[in-house]
Amino acid sequence: MKIGVLGAGQLGRMMAISGYPLNHQFGFSGNSNDEPSALLGHMFALEDNADNIESLVTFADVITYESENTDVEIVKEINKNIPVYPGEKSLFTTQHRGREKALFDQLNIPCAPYQMVSSEQELTNAVNKIGLPAILKTATEGYDGKGQFLMRDANQISKAWASMNGVESILEGFVNFKRELSLIAVRGIDDDHKYYPLVENTHHEGILRLTTAPAQNIKPEVQKVAEHYMQTLLDEMDHVGVLTIELFETDNGLVVNEMAPRVHNSGHWSIEGANTSQFENHVRAISGMPLGDTSPTHAFSAMVNIIGESGPTDIVLNMANAHLHLYDKSERENRKLGHINIIANSQEELDNSIKQLKDFLPK
Ligand code: AMP
Repeated sequence: MKIGVLGAGQLGRMMAISGYPLNHQFGFSGNSNDEPSALLGHMFALEDNADNIESLVTFADVITYESENTDVEIVKEINKNIPVYPGEKSLFTTQHRGREKALFDQLNIPCAPYQMVSSEQELTNAVNKIGLPAILKTATEGYDGKGQFLMRDANQISKAWASMNGVESILEGFVNFKRELSLIAVRGIDDDHKYYPLVENTHHEGILRLTTAPAQNIKPEVQKVAEHYMQTLLDEMDHVGVLTIELFETDNGLVVNEMAPRVHNSGHWSIEGANTSQFENHVRAISGMPLGDTSPTHAFSAMVNIIGESGPTDIVLNMANAHLHLYDKSERENRKLGHINIIANSQEELDNSIKQLKDFLPK
């Protein structure tokens, strides 16, 4: 099957790497042969212009995308001719924090208290209602902690609102969490569902640095609760492909933070750490193939992101239980250049391996 991807970044690159053994071909929308996917398929220029997307659609049997910021109008246009997975509802909901939270409310999925705000006065009212600390976030297009302001004191209202540059925003009550977790699942065209185990995520300055998989000390009933939230969302949105939910683990149970209608950085461990990777399962789902087994291959896995500079990659190549994944990107501050996957049979082996990779982690 010919799979068209809107975007040409590392997620598309890893989808293609997992999809070629299944006899799929790939096309990407992108403007430069320097993009991470460029050498892995046909490149079709310009994602943002409905006219120029035609050649990608002519090439493809099915379309998917790399980002929740993909234009819904373009997806609607494409959908008149060939399927786009995940569909419009998943994309429309997840690209706006307010719509996402409204869906959580509708489905009785716990999330932080929130208020939408479009002016300084509305922010003042929201602070009065929700209390502090709270986090102000742009309603759309935030990623890696960008477009966020942590408010601790009411005298920060003007400054916080000014930092949003006048765009619609959401004030969220601060969740006192013990750990950050995520759940990745995949739903097929035939409604089959498969879930990966909950994983634990460590961020630094808003950027994911380390994922350990499966998250340790998760009671089976907690995994069940997370899967229940996931299934409700997958079914409600009639989602096809991979869906990711980011959660907070609190003393009062799981609180959902946000979701992404796509393969996710916190699922990269699955390339070597699970029987079927998130990338292969996404490709299987959108091409109508049976979904693959999501069980971990090892009791302990981790993923360390390579951020900003490539670092001492020879260390990784000399480790028997580590796998280097580079995205063919040039070095730039805070840029995701690649990741390292570790597989281990004991917590001790995992901890020692992560220690060997300390140059890749924040001090
Ligand atoms: P987000 O872009 O929503 O994933 O937020 C980025 C990071 O900010 C999260 O990974 C958390 O560490 C933190 N964060 C976001 N929302 C909240 C919240 N309501 N309470 C506490 N921490 C939060």
